[in-house]
Amino acid sequence: MSKIILTGDRPTGKLHVGHYVGSLRRRVELQNSGEFDDIFIMIADAQALTDNADNPEKVRQNIIEVALDYLSCGLDPAKSTLFIQSQIPQLCELSFYYMNLVTVSRLQRNPTVKTEIAMRNFETSIPVGFFTYPISQAADITAFKATTVPVGEDQLPMLEQTKEIVRKFNMTYGDTLIEPEILLPDNKACLRLPGIDGKAKMSKSLGNCIYLSEDEKTLKQKVMSMYTDPNHIQISDPGQIEGNTVFTYLDAFCKDEYFAQYLPEYNNLEELKAHYTRGGLGDVKVKKFLLNVLNTELEPIRNRRKEFEKDIPYVYEVLKKGSEKAREVAENTLNEVKNAMKINYFDDAELIKSQAEKYMNQ
Ligand code: ATP
Ligand code: MG
Repeated sequence: MSKIILTGDRPTGKLHVGHYVGSLRRRVELQNSGEFDDIFIMIADAQALTDNADNPEKVRQNIIEVALDYLSCGLDPAKSTLFIQSQIPQLCELSFYYMNLVTVSRLQRNPTVKTEIAMRNFETSIPVGFFTYPISQAADITAFKATTVPVGEDQLPMLEQTKEIVRKFNMTYGDTLIEPEILLPDNKACLRLPGIDGKAKMSKSLGNCIYLSEDEKTLKQKVMSMYTDPNHIQISDPGQIEGNTVFTYLDAFCKDEYFAQYLPEYNNLEELKAHYTRGGLGDVKVKKFLLNVLNTELEPIRNRRKEFEKDIPYVYEVLKKGSEKAREVAENTLNEVKNAMKINYFDDAELIKSQAEKYMNQ
């Protein structure tokens, strides 16, 4: 069986370091591993519109930002198909058929959607499109016959929902769709990177992000203002690692070699954590180290972005070509789905013949 990746991001802002550790870094590794037959990376503009219907301009403007972030992180159009969701109408058709396989109460139980509804203060005015976006995600994943979906932990319920739809579809209409596997980051800190305010998840919608394209000055301001242990007041006080965002980011980004480079009095993160827990290590020192780590990680991304920014028409061309390829693949799957459901009336000579005979014999 072919090994195929599908994953993507909503164009609601520039990509942040949560995206990077949660999914983007992994995608680039998988792309370069050469182990996959096809890799589809989707800019989910149609999904972004489900909670930004009144602000399509925001979505429109951010497509290029996400594409630039992709290219600067190392996604390579020669190896991965980068495309825009709304340009693949077949995805809407698939969603429409999948909707019949899911109950309202099942959608209501989705914990990620529940949290997102609360976060957006939708309460009683939830747009139907937003409520049903897990179904449209199932269409995105299955349209490309994805076997592997590298995403952050918030996507677990979406993958569960997709698997249920696949099973139900295959059981009802015969084996057609492929059940995908979620690929979560193996590093615990990367599953759901918190925002700089220490809140649950770094998210464009919460405004607590460090963006991949952040300039050095803003990066410094953000790191220096990060949430740490509120009870660690004096340097001599023992500090807590658990829930301390600075250490969570170090868990996500730090490599031993950074100690030799920037903080040679420690060999590794364990030693730094031990000192902090014991007391006698100030937050500012740890933050300065994190700043060096982040700068080292982000600098090549920042520099590559500047190069791609010089040729925006090229980036749109990449997306256009990618969308054309994606459309062909989705069209094939849609045809298989319609055949399985027997809604291929005009191609079904048997149907026409049997109906004709029925009326002939009347
Ligand atoms: P929005 O606020 O518009 O929903 P977002 O910041 O949640 O934006 P998405 O586009 O919804 O970003 O998510 C894209 C991908 O990035 C998904 O795979 C998601 O799991 C992953 N991701 C997003 N935020 C984080 C995070 N803080 N930690 C780890 N992974 C994340
Ligand atoms: Mg999100």
